[in-house]
Formats: sequence, structure tokens, C-alpha cells
Amino acid sequence: MKKKTKTAKPKSKKSPAGDLQNISLVKNVLFKPARYKYIRKQEIVKGCVFCNSSKAVSMETLCVYKSEYSMIVLNKFPYNSGHLLVLPQAHGGDLLKLSSDQYADLMATLKLACQAVTDIYAPAAFNLGMNHGSSAGAGIPEHLHFHVIPRWAGDLNFFPLIAQTKVVIETLEQTYQNYIGYFNNRVSS
Ligand SMILES: [Zn+2]
Repeated sequence: MKKKTKTAKPKSKKSPAGDLQNISLVKNVLFKPARYKYIRKQEIVKGCVFCNSSKAVSMETLCVYKSEYSMIVLNKFPYNSGHLLVLPQAHGGDLLKLSSDQYADLMATLKLACQAVTDIYAPAAFNLGMNHGSSAGAGIPEHLHFHVIPRWAGDLNFFPLIAQTKVVIETLEQTYQNYIGYFNNRVSS
């Protein structure tokens, strides 16, 4: 990887596509500095990003909890502080193909995630759901995942429409520490 320098490069050999990439990079640095290094790390992950998350509970994989068949992972691009994904560890995009044990474990883990969101963030409500398949809007349809999103009155309604961005108060590091502390305490108590 090339070392970054602060010296401006000559503009003459840049392609229009290169300019666009640079613009989006600057936007990330300016407005979402906490996410920037994870965007860079995720770019080098080969294969399914969720299968990568199943390898270990860590800040790098964004996995905060693993049960026998399931796991809880931070959303790399949260809609709100505390946004979780709950998913089977096994790769697959069809809920109907889960075994009874996998399904029961997934539902129990989903409930646990809802409990963690409630205990840590005390939201007024939360969105809970899954886009099953690409036509339903799933971003990664090949690996099932539920979203658990804490909500507060008026939190996401206005700003995303006007500024085409989202207000996320916490950094991913803070969110990770919140959940790791919660689940570690749960295991040891
Ligand atoms: Zn996968």
C-alpha cells in the first residue's frame, strides 16, 4: 500500500473516476472520521463479510456476541447508535433452510439483542426486521441478518432527507465497548 502524503499531487493525470473517488474519500474523512478506518479495512475482506464476522468476537470483525449457532454484529453503517445485526453463523440466505435448532437459537439471540439494546440505550422503541432476499431490499441477501435499531422520537425523520446523511452520535468503538461490556458481564454473572 502506498504511503499517504500531505503533498498535493498534480492534477493532470487524474481520471474523472479518480476525482469522484477522492471526493467521496474526503467526505468520509470530514464527516465520518470514526468510520473511515473500518471502511478501509472492510475493503480488503475477501468473500462474505458476515462469515468473516463469525470468526471471532473482536472490534475488527464487529462481532460482539456468539451463541452456539448465531451471532450479534455491529452494523458497519449504523442507522442509529446501537444498531445491531443478528444472524446465523452459517452462510445462507434462506430462513426456511435453517434447522430447528439453528432457528430456535437465532430467535433466542434476537431476543437477547433486543434486551441488550433496551438495557444499554433505553430507547423509546426499536425497529426489528429482516429484508429477506435482494428484491426485498437486502444489502447482503446471501447471508440472513435481522436488524435491531434503537429509536427515539424524531431521531431519523428529518436530517437524512435534507442532508442525505445520518446522525450517529457514537463512534463504532464506543458502541462496541458498550456491547462487549454488557455481554461479558452477562457471561460472568
Ligand atoms: Zn456469509
